[in-house]
Amino acid sequence: MFKTVIEPFRIKVVEQIRMTTPEQRTALLAQAGYNTFSLRSEDVMIDLLTDSGTGAMSAEQWAGIMRGDESYAGSPSFYRFQDSIRQVMGFEHVIPTHQGRAAERILFGVTCAECDVVPNNSHFDTTRANIEYRGATALDLPCAELADMSSDYPFKGNMDVEALRTAFATYGADRIPLVMLTVTNNSGGGQPVSMANAREVAAVCREFGKPLYLDACRIAENAYLIKQREPGYAEKSVREIVREMCDLAEGCTMSAKKDAIVNMGGFLATRDSELARQERVLLILTEGFPTYGGLSGRDLEALAIGMQEGVDEDYLNYRITSTHYVGRHLRENGVPLLWPTGGHAIYLDAKRFAAHIPPQRLPGVSIANALYHAGGVRACEIGTLMFGHPDPATGEETVAARELVRLAIPRRTYTQSHMDYVIEVVLKVWEERASLPGYRIVEQAHYLRHFSARLEPIGQSPTA
Ligand SMILES: *Cc1c(COP(=O)(O)O)cnc(C)c1O
Repeated sequence: MFKTVIEPFRIKVVEQIRMTTPEQRTALLAQAGYNTFSLRSEDVMIDLLTDSGTGAMSAEQWAGIMRGDESYAGSPSFYRFQDSIRQVMGFEHVIPTHQGRAAERILFGVTCAECDVVPNNSHFDTTRANIEYRGATALDLPCAELADMSSDYPFKGNMDVEALRTAFATYGADRIPLVMLTVTNNSGGGQPVSMANAREVAAVCREFGKPLYLDACRIAENAYLIKQREPGYAEKSVREIVREMCDLAEGCTMSAKKDAIVNMGGFLATRDSELARQERVLLILTEGFPTYGGLSGRDLEALAIGMQEGVDEDYLNYRITSTHYVGRHLRENGVPLLWPTGGHAIYLDAKRFAAHIPPQRLPGVSIANALYHAGGVRACEIGTLMFGHPDPATGEETVAARELVRLAIPRRTYTQSHMDYVIEVVLKVWEERASLPGYRIVEQAHYLRHFSARLEPIGQSPTA
């Protein structure tokens, strides 16, 4: 009917954005060692560093915060939390944790032994780290279609099912405690997994007698993309689609900071009573008593309500449309990016965007810094700064498979005009791309260096 999709909410509380000038940002960037993680958030105008925990809670969630019951054991807030997740997902046992990675640590702590192998469409970095910490191997099996960044293929988050069969043949089912499917595939560009693919993966798991677990952080966005793109799902509700996907699985881990729209929280869930018993033992050791885990009663309330709001179709329509709107405008102006857009972010293809900068000179960092300088927009490099490392022998950088810049969109936080502004800022940097400098690392940590590295531009100043 009307082409404008409005934000399906109005604003009751506002948070001031501090406006800065390019001159001020030149100095702020230098102070931050040209690393957007080191900027202070007050110095950022539009913060697209992550969609994790950065969403705006609803009036209902804030009301729930006041209702929170802080009893150590048996709080009604826990039962509302458990009921809400059971209603949406259908898993019997629900275990609260302070965030997603704690759920992962407990799941793999119980299921995973040294030398085991865990296949996934693509592991998120904390998931991989928790598996490797157990002495096991995290195996990424993305579908081949993901390699073509600009094709129209609708489900680039899919798992390569043939590769999964090969993994069972190569390692043997005894070494594979479970299979994981990350929806949407965050490390694979926020791309959705189709129901057909999830069904095939579940069938392989059944064949080898192994459970399928979902990394369900963005299962609502994934379900909405299935509704839009997969034949046979247009008439189904998002709730039905979420439930259908959960019905294929034995359980899940979830960072509620994503689709459950809370600032902190997570959980793990399973149908397996014996596994749940073992998980609760570990939970008590490091998170807390089973009816609060790592969370306060008020957090459980906000999560219970956010879980329901996250599957609301008016909200999802606005969210997915808004992400797509940004992606479509950039693409129409020639900006290279991962296509089609997924749910939570735009991923610029830095290799093609700044083709004159070799990967060793960090094109993604250069673009992220230019976005901040041009418009106070904070994005994050997902490329060689994040995944590369200096070769111990030569000191030369080993480079990442892809050089991306992620613009992650917080939930319900920014308006259409903020997104129009982001488009303008990206297009300005795109027009001036020939002058983007390369960067070198001047200081770095051994692990997870992207969080704290200090860099400097090579040759001309990035901000001249
Ligand atoms: C964020 C995220 C996690 C980890 O959750 P935290 O709450 O940050 O610990 C795990 N998997 C995926 C796919 C994620 O996006």
